[in-house]
Amino acid sequence: MEPRDYPTAPVDALGRPLRDLRISITDRCNFRCRYCMPEEIFGADFRFLSEEKLLSLPELVRLTQIFVSLGVEKIRITGGEPLLRKNIGDIISRIRSIEGVKDIAVTTNGSLLKQKAQQLREAGLERITVSLDSLNDERFGRMNGRGFPVRTVLEGIDAAASAGLSVKINMVVQKGVNDQDIIPMARYFRERGHTLRFVEFMDVGNSSGWNLQQVVPSKRIIEIIHADMPLEPVAPNYYGEVATRYRYQGTHTEIGLISSVTQAFCGSCTRARLSAEGHLYTCLFASDKTDLLSVMRAGASDDEVRQRIVQVWSERQDRYSETRLAQTSPRRMVEMSHIGG
Ligand code: SAM
Ligand code: SF4
Ligand code: SF4
Repeated sequence: MEPRDYPTAPVDALGRPLRDLRISITDRCNFRCRYCMPEEIFGADFRFLSEEKLLSLPELVRLTQIFVSLGVEKIRITGGEPLLRKNIGDIISRIRSIEGVKDIAVTTNGSLLKQKAQQLREAGLERITVSLDSLNDERFGRMNGRGFPVRTVLEGIDAAASAGLSVKINMVVQKGVNDQDIIPMARYFRERGHTLRFVEFMDVGNSSGWNLQQVVPSKRIIEIIHADMPLEPVAPNYYGEVATRYRYQGTHTEIGLISSVTQAFCGSCTRARLSAEGHLYTCLFASDKTDLLSVMRAGASDDEVRQRIVQVWSERQDRYSETRLAQTSPRRMVEMSHIGG
């Protein structure tokens, strides 16, 4: 069957099609960002998935093909830290060669990017997002929980750009932690022509230490930057675009704002997420999952796996960000490092 010809390409209970797949290829990370994998919880005795519990390359490719047959066009590879996975080059090139995949991107902390940028480009990758929260070594080291220096990430970004990758930067902004870095980050990446995206601090997982007072609303970030470097709005590129975009006046360089707390975008959320052990989640804030790896390892045919996905997606009603502030009791959620943001 040709991609996207599957007769029951699913629409969820709120009318949203399935278009994007985010695949976490490892739950491990060499950083311990306070807002994602704090050392107290993800310490030396934390048990990560063993090799045999991870989706293997053939399983990953098979599942991706099935998702593509249901209408998925965009794939994002994430983690944990995806560049820790040894066969990252093979993963990219195999997924890229699946007919129907229109776009593939990787999100990384950039720590290994200098060594791997060329390999990723040769595997066919065109776009990469690098997470970086500060240009100040002390603050960045504290935020990444490992004292990791800024310079290595910046060298990774330069290596990616030199290899021909289009680079975006993600900065999670936390009030009182790194909000003083908004302008230095904006200036630095404006000069280099890379899109910097400001991500509102979110209450993902059970260990982010989130509270609303620490969120810097995107509106405020625009005001801060506009006062220094005038901005103008840019129209969205496509339905369901997560970032609201602005351009520095008189340039082609953009910034983006991902406002999942103050301007939720659940209404156009077309994203499914696959954890490193092959569990399907239909929301970043989900507590329920569907174990597709066990279904596959029990011998299910492609059609059976497809039907399971169609059923899960058809029943999907997630809109957590739209209801966040009305939630009265805390709930257990999947960890961000498990499904990758
Ligand atoms: N390790 C890779 C990285 O950091 O880019 C990929 C996985 S990481 C979970 C994906 C993205 O989620 C990163 O850009 C990270 O900054 C973001 N993130 C993690 N925890 C977050 C939180 N509590 N609020 C907002 N963004 C968060
Ligand atoms: Fe690792 Fe990325 Fe989470 Fe930081 S945000 S701990 S780099 S997975
Ligand atoms: Fe999508 Fe869930 Fe985020 Fe809403 S809260 S945009 S449904 S992932």
